[in-house]
Amino acid sequence: MTNATTGVPQSFTLGREKLDLKFRFARLVAREWLAPDYVRVRLEGADLVDFGTPGHDDHIRVFFAQGPADTVDEMRAFPSRELTPLYWGTSNSADGETVGWLDLEFAVHGDEGVAGVWAANAPLGSLAGVGGPRGSMSVHGTPDAWLLAGDETAVPQIRRFAALIPDGAPATILVEVQDEAHEVAIDAPVTVEYVHRGDAAAGTALAARLDGITADDRPSGDVFGFVAAEQAIVKTGRALLCERWGLDSDRVVVKGYWKRGEAEYHAPHGPGAR
Ligand SMILES: Cc1cc2nc3c(=O)[nH]c(=O)nc-3n(C[C@H](O)[C@H](O)[C@H](O)COP(=O)(O)OP(=O)(O)OC[C@H]3O[C@@H](n4cnc5c(N)ncnc54)[C@H](O)[C@@H]3O)c2cc1C
Repeated sequence: MTNATTGVPQSFTLGREKLDLKFRFARLVAREWLAPDYVRVRLEGADLVDFGTPGHDDHIRVFFAQGPADTVDEMRAFPSRELTPLYWGTSNSADGETVGWLDLEFAVHGDEGVAGVWAANAPLGSLAGVGGPRGSMSVHGTPDAWLLAGDETAVPQIRRFAALIPDGAPATILVEVQDEAHEVAIDAPVTVEYVHRGDAAAGTALAARLDGITADDRPSGDVFGFVAAEQAIVKTGRALLCERWGLDSDRVVVKGYWKRGEAEYHAPHGPGAR
């Protein structure tokens, strides 16, 4: 197969798979601040023993219990937000029981909303519900080159894609944060470029950096692109990847992960750039 616009042979495909939707109960067991306003938390519970996803890009809906919940319906009545499952596994508790764990990372953005506030403040032991993932996307094959770009909310997904990049592969990883003090370390085979927004609105510095990337900057070969941040980034991400670089819109991921001024933003899902 070749790209219809550029004629470049395809080195990878994106496979999308529907998964059985499961709902799990878990408890907050650990919290680690990786940067100011950026926190990793661990959820744990017997329900998480079989948690996992076969793919590389998926999301879950986490329900933040504001009180007791014994049934799925009770838990589903609590506020929920979309998050990226980052790392998961099983371990043995002190009494020999096997439990599952799931690590998530949160951008903490003041005292607005539910998810960031819960991640920053909920007491250890707090109850949470984990719905999904209900779908998963896998990168089959190996892209010839990579462009990954996002703000703090996209760092978990950037970590997941960065783990797929072979040593020596051409890759650009751009992460917008407020300033040097807010940079979140990311394991990657290339140097991560942090774009500082300072006091400017979230997303604007990343958009300016992406706007500055020209058609001539396109790496050769079959490029995989991922761009996710405040919703306004979608137009900029598409303009770079699909228009200037000629990538197929259904072989990139461009998403608004949140929307300024809108609580519980629901990003459109499905194939292609959104
Ligand atoms: C597929 C997908 C995966 C995601 N994965 C993650 C993840 O792993 N980690 C993560 O932190 N987020 C992730 N997000 C983004 C997250 O769902 C949103 O940021 C969500 O709005 C946070 O909920 P909240 O309750 O904190 O704020 P909300 O109640 O939704 O919003 C309250 C106010 O805060 C604003 N706001 C929301 N998020 C931010 C922000 N990051 N910075 C500044 N203002 C904000 C809103 O515009 C609104 O005005 C993901 C989103 C999607 C679609």
